[in-house]
Amino acid sequence: MKCPKCNHNHSRVIDSRQSEDAHAIRRRRECESCRYRFTTFEKVEKIPLLVIKKDNSREEFSREKLLRGLIRSAEKRPVTSEQMENMVDIVERRVHELGETEITSAQIGEFMMEELVNLDEIAYIRFASVYRQFKDMTVFLSELEDIVKRVKKGD
Ligand SMILES: [Zn+2]
Repeated sequence: MKCPKCNHNHSRVIDSRQSEDAHAIRRRRECESCRYRFTTFEKVEKIPLLVIKKDNSREEFSREKLLRGLIRSAEKRPVTSEQMENMVDIVERRVHELGETEITSAQIGEFMMEELVNLDEIAYIRFASVYRQFKDMTVFLSELEDIVKRVKKGD
């Protein structure tokens, strides 16, 4: 980081703290040459993530939209809002871990289903029937069988 006063290349960090909203690190620096003090901010670069929809149109990834879909699927089910928030957090993290700038809505749906199946079977089936539309009835039935087996085993 060049000194804004003398352009010297080296500065020393004399203080480092989180900004009030915790989205940035504020560093107080001192130029090693002229001792001029200045402040820098370090932020996570936010690359907008686009979701490719079925018709190939794009829209910005929305955590709120995932949560709304989940709330709808989990209606009248014993799933707490905290569990839903946590699940959306996990899915959001998995999406970002791909490191891509675009992701298909189908891929997000798969992530949601993988998490939701462990949370609540009924909510999972509701969600899956919307997301995957279960065009193929045999796929749907075999998934149901898997769920029923798991419920019977009691886990
Ligand atoms: Zn300087």
